[in-house]
Amino acid sequence: MKQLMFVGTGKLAWHEVPEPELQAPRDALVRPLAVARCDLDSAFFRRPLGRALQLGLASHMVDPVVCDIADDPPYAPPIPIGHECVAEVLELGREVSHVRVGERVVVPFQVACGHCPTCARGVTSRCTAGALSVNNFGFGPGAHVHGGVMTDIVRVPFADAMLVPVPDGVDTVAVASASDNLPDAYRAVAGPLRERPGASVLVVGGNAKSVGLYAAAIAKALGASEVDYCDVDDERLAIAQHVGARPVQGRRARWSRAFRSLGRRYTISVDASSDVQGRGLELALRSLEPGGVCTSVGIYPRARTPVPLMQMYVDGITLRTGITNARALIPRVLSLVAEGRLDPAPVTTLLATWSDAQRALLAQTTKVVVAR
Ligand SMILES: [Zn+2]
Ligand SMILES: [Zn+2]
Repeated sequence: MKQLMFVGTGKLAWHEVPEPELQAPRDALVRPLAVARCDLDSAFFRRPLGRALQLGLASHMVDPVVCDIADDPPYAPPIPIGHECVAEVLELGREVSHVRVGERVVVPFQVACGHCPTCARGVTSRCTAGALSVNNFGFGPGAHVHGGVMTDIVRVPFADAMLVPVPDGVDTVAVASASDNLPDAYRAVAGPLRERPGASVLVVGGNAKSVGLYAAAIAKALGASEVDYCDVDDERLAIAQHVGARPVQGRRARWSRAFRSLGRRYTISVDASSDVQGRGLELALRSLEPGGVCTSVGIYPRARTPVPLMQMYVDGITLRTGITNARALIPRVLSLVAEGRLDPAPVTTLLATWSDAQRALLAQTTKVVVAR
């Protein structure tokens, strides 16, 4: 069968790989129907991110822990790609009972057993059942064990714990990102809005391109009183408006100017800028009212990233970060969509056919979904 591989900056290629087989009674084989490009994919497919991180590691500018996620050396080709998909169940090991053959399922991007002490605490991003500390499809060390989902058949370990059926009536393409970017956005606003119902929300958009927009849409769905979306990208600002947020044109150079254009403070903020110098993070933190909470979904590979601790101290600001624990949140995202409260579809700016995937997944646009 064919697997789409990252073979160098700006280059993807189909490679012939062996078809996977069931290896354990808890395995499933699935066929990806719709694959979404994660915001992180977009970064390493199109820019020489691996090279930049390698140079940063050599000069001690980059935190070596980055290799847990990005592999060592980081993003070195070839990498079997794809880690967000809705798939059809093809075959089940004899101990799998929660899903059936033919069912549509979301495949979480993190391989997690659901039973180890870490999974039991809900930290499915760091399941200890495998040999790796971070165990994903489609990038990082896990890609060489589990492959990517931009292929014909994927073996999913721990299928009962992993696979989440897609409710009837929910469009396959609309929830193709439910493996990763949608639950990542959900955690950034759902918890804070549960603690502060009806609060105002600021999303600082940027390199976590779709996550910021999903966060704005989910904040609206969960009853935020106001949702402002600040970014420098016109395409994303237009989508933000479409999903019900107020678009605010950002300023690339200085957080203080962007802060002035916002002209107010918020109870909840989301940093989706993933701006390596931390300017978007600073904006998200300094824009909070006293007692506010900021969730950063950004990845900051530098050994040190500036954080305005003095203002956070004075105003009692909480900063949350960390890899999302996708599996636990996927059913909640699917429920919002099934109930008609959330429509992720407007965030998809390019819907491509399977035969066009090699080209489409490199497109300079917000969100790509490839579907059969
Ligand atoms: Zn991802
Ligand atoms: Zn586990």
